[in-house]
Amino acid sequence: MDYFIKSVIAFLLFGTSIVSAQNFDQHFENKILRIDYHHIGDAKSESFEMKSFHAGGEWNGTRAYLTQPFEYGSILFEVYDSVTHELIFKRSYSTLFDEYKATERAEKEIGYFEECVNLPFPKKSIKFTFTSNSRKREATLKYTGYFNPKTTTCQPFVKEHDVMDLHIGGKPDQCLDILFIPDGYTKEEQEKLEKDMQRFADYVLDCSPYNENKKMINIRAVRAFSEESGITDPNKGELKKTLLNSSYNVLDLDRYLMCLNVWKMNAVADDAPYDHVVLICNSTKYGGGGIYNFYCTVNSEHQRSAYVIVHELGHGVGGLGDEYYTSEVSVRDYYPEGIEPVDPNLTTLVDFDTKWADLIESGLPVPTPAVEENRAKVGVYEGGGYVAEGVYRPYISCTMKDAVYNRFCPVCTRVLIETFKYYSNKIKNNEYHKVRPSNSVN
Ligand SMILES: [Zn+2]
Repeated sequence: MDYFIKSVIAFLLFGTSIVSAQNFDQHFENKILRIDYHHIGDAKSESFEMKSFHAGGEWNGTRAYLTQPFEYGSILFEVYDSVTHELIFKRSYSTLFDEYKATERAEKEIGYFEECVNLPFPKKSIKFTFTSNSRKREATLKYTGYFNPKTTTCQPFVKEHDVMDLHIGGKPDQCLDILFIPDGYTKEEQEKLEKDMQRFADYVLDCSPYNENKKMINIRAVRAFSEESGITDPNKGELKKTLLNSSYNVLDLDRYLMCLNVWKMNAVADDAPYDHVVLICNSTKYGGGGIYNFYCTVNSEHQRSAYVIVHELGHGVGGLGDEYYTSEVSVRDYYPEGIEPVDPNLTTLVDFDTKWADLIESGLPVPTPAVEENRAKVGVYEGGGYVAEGVYRPYISCTMKDAVYNRFCPVCTRVLIETFKYYSNKIKNNEYHKVRPSNSVN
């Protein structure tokens, strides 16, 4: 490619981000519009049913990249100016429904899941669409809706809880904002709640690459209490009345601790600026979960808590996949043969050049033998994504593979840093696409 063409492409890509920054004021007010909806379906079909619109707060997401440059999620949410049809906002995320539809239960039963999506409040009438991306990377438009800021009924945010600043690296719209919501803490446990929130903030900030990038990160918590102490555990017959009704055994997996009251969770989260929500669940039983750009959970007291929160944030913030392959996870056909996964730290070698090929030293065999001399080398090691064969990971050991704190491999580290930069408006689009083109929708 000659210099002139390279320069033009660099200008166009870089130019895109500049135009987006200016476009914010043209298209949006400095406030949030939240759409609450039901995601309904089973193993073979799915649909979206709108429930309500909510508005308030201040927009704290990035303003430079209104159209997110990477798409690791199962849902692509897009917003268009309904007169000019210009794409003015885009966000990719995954949800619990995506995991549900891969379970045996979804062969027999229809599931109803609460979901939300936030966007900056539009100044003019918009059209919005939900597109579903299958694990075979087939994109299907599932829903088209409209919102008119002058005529559509919209409920205001209601602030209910105090906010604790646990670490402030910068302004909300220039940082990754992580918000902790405590579940299962009573008013009498306020001191414990505050100590636990700070302890989990320290777990995140003491872990690389969060540690070296604190200026791009904010961590806050809401001081929100529950009627009863503890967390619902159906397998023990324990039912607790808590703020968000978080529960173990979601999707029939004992340690899968999740929250099905997603509308309430986001209404609580409205009390503070946030890009990602983490539920800190008051329990000693091991559990947790993390879904890309949706939310994460962790139980409050366990010897592995430090590991669990950074592992789950790997999913939630970075869109990273699980690099382990011995698992009780009840999902099937997660990584179909012959399809390159969207997860930036897993490959089936179908389209490996879009992953971490640039980080592999020349001469290293691909696939790479998992032998001691390769322990500190980025390679292509077989086993990952819940299966021992056909899916490959970048490193012998990583926090996304083994239950070890503070051991993100160089590939996961790079993905997390790129994500911090995205929220901090520091990444250049052309840098990003060089390594991983987005999962473009046809
Ligand atoms: Zn890794």
